[in-house]
Amino acid sequence: MEKITYQYSEEFAQKMDDSDPLKGFRSKFFFPKVNGQEAVYFCGNSLGLQPKSVQSYIQKELDNWANLAVDGHFIGEDAWYHIRKKSKPALAEIVGAHEHEVVAMNNLSSNLHFLMVSFYRPTKERFKIITEAGAFPSDMYMLESQVKFHGLDPDETIIELAPRAGEYTLRTEDILKTIENQKHDLALVMMAGLQYYTGQVFDMEAISRAAHQSGALVGFDLAHAAGNAPLQLHDWEVDFATWCSYKYLNSGPGNISGIFVHEKHAESPDLPRFAGWWGHDEGERFRMEKGFKPMYGADGWQLANSNVIALAAHQASLDIFEEVGMARLRKKSELLTGYLEFLIGQISGETGILEIITPKNPKERGCQLSLLIHKGGKSVFDEFYKNGVVGDWRHPNVIRIAPTPLYNSFLDIYRFAKILEQSLQKFA
Ligand SMILES: *Cc1c(COP(=O)(O)O)cnc(C)c1O
Repeated sequence: MEKITYQYSEEFAQKMDDSDPLKGFRSKFFFPKVNGQEAVYFCGNSLGLQPKSVQSYIQKELDNWANLAVDGHFIGEDAWYHIRKKSKPALAEIVGAHEHEVVAMNNLSSNLHFLMVSFYRPTKERFKIITEAGAFPSDMYMLESQVKFHGLDPDETIIELAPRAGEYTLRTEDILKTIENQKHDLALVMMAGLQYYTGQVFDMEAISRAAHQSGALVGFDLAHAAGNAPLQLHDWEVDFATWCSYKYLNSGPGNISGIFVHEKHAESPDLPRFAGWWGHDEGERFRMEKGFKPMYGADGWQLANSNVIALAAHQASLDIFEEVGMARLRKKSELLTGYLEFLIGQISGETGILEIITPKNPKERGCQLSLLIHKGGKSVFDEFYKNGVVGDWRHPNVIRIAPTPLYNSFLDIYRFAKILEQSLQKFA
C-alpha cells in the first residue's frame, strides 16, 4: 500500500477527497439527516445506505408484475424463473467464488441453519464445533440449537476461542493450535470471518487449511465481511459460508442473504439437506414429480422461489459494486480507515481515553474500528450523535465506527474527529 503522511486538517481531508478516484460514488446514495443536517454516517456495518437507484429497480419489477402478472416468470430477459442468475457475477466477485458456488436466498440466520444441516454431521467420534467466544447472538443461538437438535450437550460440544488475558482479539496461532488439538473429535469450525464487535478479520485461509488437516469442515459467517474485506472463498477451500446483504451490501433492511457452497460439494446428492422445489433441477421442476434432484452447486440449496422485489433492491447495490470493483474499494478503504486511526491517535494522544481494539494490521481488519472509551462513555457517544455523527454503541463501552469506502469521504472522517474532540472535552 502506498504510504501517506496523514494530517489533521480540513485542507488535507479535502485534498484526499479531490484525488479520490471513487469520489463520484457518494452521490449515488441517500444520506439520512440528524437534527436537520446531513449525517456523518458511519453505520454501514449495521445498515448500509440506500442507493438512489433502488426505487427504479423495484419499480421495474412492480411494472412487470402489473403488466405481465404470472407471465413475468417466463417473459423478458429478466424473467423471474431465472432471476437468481442475475446477482451471481457480482456476488462471486465479492466473496471470491465461481458463479455456481453462490446464490442469493432467504435470510442469514435461516441460511446458517440450512447449511448446518448439510455440513454439521456429528458422529460418536467427531462432533465438536469450534467457534469464537462472544459471537453474534444469532450465531450462538444457531449453534446451540443445532447441537441440541442432534441430542448433544452444547457445553461439551462447542469450543469457544477466547482472546488471551488482557487482549481483545484472537491470535491466529492460538486458533490454529486449538483446531489441531481437537483433531480427533472436531467436526466443524464455524465462526465469523470478521468479528462484529472487535472488527478483527480472521485468517480464513489458514483456518480452513487447519480445519481440513484436522479432518473437519469449515464455514464462515460473513455478515461483516461481505463487501468489506477481501475474500477468496474458493481458493481458500472454505466449505460453506453465508452473509447478509443489508450491511456493507446496501440492499435494504432485512434484505436477502447469500450462500457459498464450495465446488467440491457441488455434486453431492447424498449430502443431507432440507430440500425445496427451487433447489430441484430447474429443467424438470414443473413436472411436479417425486424424487428430489438437486441443482448443481449452491443453487441446489435453494428452497423457495426467488423473492423478486428483494432481489431488485439487492441488484441495485450489486450493480454499483460491479462498477467499482472490490480491489479499488479495498484500496480506498485502507486509506480511509488509516486516516480514522491516525486522527483518533491525535485526539486521544497521551490521555489514552480512546483505545482502538481492532487490529492495527490492515490485513486483519475491514473498514471498521472499534474504540474502547475509558472515560465519558455513552455521554460522549450521545453528544456526537447530537452533532450529526451516526456510529454505533455496544454495551458496555465500545463505539464502532465504520467508514464505508463506497460513500464515506475523508472530510467525513475529519468532521467526525472534530466532533469527537469536542465531545471528549465536554464529557471525558
Ligand atoms: C448482522 C448479523 C446477523 C443477523 O442475522 P439476520 O438473520 O440477518 O437477522 C447474524 N450474524 C452476524 C455475525 C451478524 O453480524
